[in-house]
Amino acid sequence: EYYLDNIERHNGRLNAFLEVWPDEARAQADAVDAKLAAGTAGKLAGMVIGLKDVLAYKDHALQSSSHILDGFKSLFTASAVQRLLDEDAIFIGRQNCDEFAMGASNETSYFGPVRNALDEERVSGGSSGGSAVAVQADMCLASIGSDTGGSVRQPAAFCGIVGFKPTYSRISRYGLVAYASSFDQIGTLTRSVDDAALLLEVMAGADDFDSTVSQREVPAYSQLLEPAPHYRIGYIRDAVERPGLNPEIKGALERTLDELRGQGHVVDAVDFPYLDYMVPTYYILTTAEASSNLSRFDGVKYGYRAPDATDLASLYKKTRSQGFGPEVQRRILLGTFVLSADYYDAYYTKAQQVRRLIKEKTDELLRQYDFLVLPTTPTTAFRLGENKKDTLAMYLADIFTVQASLAGVPAVSVPAGNDSQGLPIGLQIVSGAFREEHLLAFAKSLT
Ligand code: GLN
Repeated sequence: EYYLDNIERHNGRLNAFLEVWPDEARAQADAVDAKLAAGTAGKLAGMVIGLKDVLAYKDHALQSSSHILDGFKSLFTASAVQRLLDEDAIFIGRQNCDEFAMGASNETSYFGPVRNALDEERVSGGSSGGSAVAVQADMCLASIGSDTGGSVRQPAAFCGIVGFKPTYSRISRYGLVAYASSFDQIGTLTRSVDDAALLLEVMAGADDFDSTVSQREVPAYSQLLEPAPHYRIGYIRDAVERPGLNPEIKGALERTLDELRGQGHVVDAVDFPYLDYMVPTYYILTTAEASSNLSRFDGVKYGYRAPDATDLASLYKKTRSQGFGPEVQRRILLGTFVLSADYYDAYYTKAQQVRRLIKEKTDELLRQYDFLVLPTTPTTAFRLGENKKDTLAMYLADIFTVQASLAGVPAVSVPAGNDSQGLPIGLQIVSGAFREEHLLAFAKSLT
């Protein structure tokens, strides 16, 4: 009732939820109460959760905040979502996001932007903007989002909460709408690192419906949050010195590094020679994968169908022209171009090679160091509309989050105070693959 009441009061302005399920949530809560009384309640009993509009939940609308999925209802439930239900989570509603998770400000949503609760003239970040603001404004305890190149970490940083993306393949992607399949991961937006660990523990692990998911055993992450006394920590020299990095974010990072040194950790500057290649590599590969993944939306199988089509070709063209927004169309075109016969080697193959270099160097650093510490974002939450017209500026703002996505390693953004205008600053910690228990224990010690 507390969360429903907050939604009632704030969602009209903030636009974080596209749909709320009060009756179902109450029924789930009653069922959980009964289980608690009987002593049979699951690990998440009473945890009120919102779902980003990219996660399949049977018989519920699923739209990826796109016009092209108007009226579509999911026929099955995502594996990760089912695991939350099985542990007695309570689902409260479906959350706004950038269209097909393409964006960093929630301004590409067909349903309009989400507003940052700390300053309603500013963006929530994206693409999991609704999921971040829902937690920020206390409209649910935790949100489940997705992160392809920063989509849980960046809005978490803009909203002053914890955003966590696990190792690629740690959580099944079955039932997650595909954007760029070799990058996509389900992630969490929470107030605490403990909640992130608990949700990971419930969602992670082998799944017959996703052949790419890791078969590794799932540690009891929530019980493993005790940090070690000494870590080796690296920070990328050029990232800290980067022009365009907000000086207050730089200051927060430097202060944290100094404190860590003071606590006896080894803190070293490291060289990472590929910083300038990360955003281009990410956008070539993700748009290529997106152009293929989004070809299924053709007006025949799902959602919206153009009413004025005259034959099959015109059905495809009109449905896709009317159904996809401008950012999604731009990415389909870019992805189709880089995959076309004449340009494949020049762009797609080259980007795959650069991804390999980025991954190898990142893995090497993460063998030498327990963690890399980076800013999450170059700026704090910007004004609505400020970057909307400048696509390249919006892409370049992903500079610090795409490394973990290109390398497939886990990363978490934790709140690190506010700037002089009171806007939240996020710091990002990255660890080697499948070292989530260490990553989360360290992250917790910073909060
Ligand atoms: N801003 C990045 C993009 O638009 C990341 C989005 C995401 O992680 N889904 O691709």
